[in-house]
Amino acid sequence: MRHRLPPPPSALRGRVVVAAVAAGAFAAAGAGQTVHAAANEVQSANGGATFDGTGGDTLSAPQVLAVSRATPEGAAEAAKLLRSQQITSRREATEAEKNRPKFARPAAGDFTSGYGGRWGRLHLGIDIAGPIGTPILAAADGVVKDAGPVSGFGQWVRLVHDDGTITVYGHVDTYSVRVGQRVQAGQQIARMGNRGESTGPHLHFEVWNPAGNKINPLPWLNDRGITV
Ligand SMILES: [Zn+2]
Repeated sequence: MRHRLPPPPSALRGRVVVAAVAAGAFAAAGAGQTVHAAANEVQSANGGATFDGTGGDTLSAPQVLAVSRATPEGAAEAAKLLRSQQITSRREATEAEKNRPKFARPAAGDFTSGYGGRWGRLHLGIDIAGPIGTPILAAADGVVKDAGPVSGFGQWVRLVHDDGTITVYGHVDTYSVRVGQRVQAGQQIARMGNRGESTGPHLHFEVWNPAGNKINPLPWLNDRGITV
């Protein structure tokens, strides 16, 4: 919400302008604006009797800061506030990125079938069974390579990961991603289903290594801290 404030009494104008600019600087820091933008706002705020700013959003009066007039020093002060705020939010973003999980169990449920020979034919993935609609999550960060109907699996989602590994999610009931979309580990991409050649609701999960070979997903997951 932005409010247009009435012009403040002239004696206070400079101080209120600085306070509003400083408040604006905090908002600008969140929006990723540059220090220059804040300095320019100080310039234009000096020239006009009225101004827009986030200072009008609170019920109480804007807090008057130590800087008492809109001077070059005031601009420098606002720029310094903005810069420290930017550094803080950048550090927080870096920290959050570092701490978030980079791998995820592709679905909750019962491990019902492993990789290898089964009923006289090769089963080149693992099965996790659960109720229809159980969320299916991206096992790692990646880009959606396929999302839609396919023979055998009914519908599938395939993700290609940064190292060229591909993960496959088969028999999905619905999917909620589109080709080319970037997804993060743990992000929901589909829901468990019973489509295609399937004898009960489950996720069929495959891992294709960068050479294109379907490898056993269990050790691949275990090596990345995920147990199934
Ligand atoms: Zn399977």
